Amino acid sequence: MKLDEWYMKLAIEEAKKAEAVQEVPIGAVIVRNGEVISAAHNLRETEQRAIAHAEILAIDEACRELGTWRLEGATLYVTLEPCPMCAGAIVLSRVERVVFGAPDPKGGCAGTLMNLLQEERFNHQVEVEEGVLREECGKLLSDFFRQIRERKKSEKAISKNLHLP
Ligand SMILES: [Zn+2]
Repeated sequence: MKLDEWYMKLAIEEAKKAEAVQEVPIGAVIVRNGEVISAAHNLRETEQRAIAHAEILAIDEACRELGTWRLEGATLYVTLEPCPMCAGAIVLSRVERVVFGAPDPKGGCAGTLMNLLQEERFNHQVEVEEGVLREECGKLLSDFFRQIRERKKSEKAISKNLHLP
């Protein structure tokens, strides 16, 4: 297995931790010099924090771990293409490389809707590799949302039945 895939597997494991607590399954890990510096998953619902995305949490942890806001030489692996907030944090923390799994047609800012990671006018550009274990990363998300729809449907059916005379 290629190294990128191996680290993406770790990000997928993180995404599964999010799923286990009914969070949208998105996971991220930060690696530098072959060492995993931090790993995090989406905790937006649990913490009721709009910024509790996997990448933000992983960046924050990595900065704490390394004692610096500069994550030069680091690679961030994330299962879903970063949103504008996370892409911003990636640029500001000087992450060298981003590897993501599935593209995000509704929010992806690493090439899908726009490309904040490689915007020439910023003072830092990031190397981007997309589509690593894309299917697996995307399936986690589509399965999650399908389950939510099915649950809603059955809840609706139950409440409908309760209102029967
Ligand atoms: Zn984000």
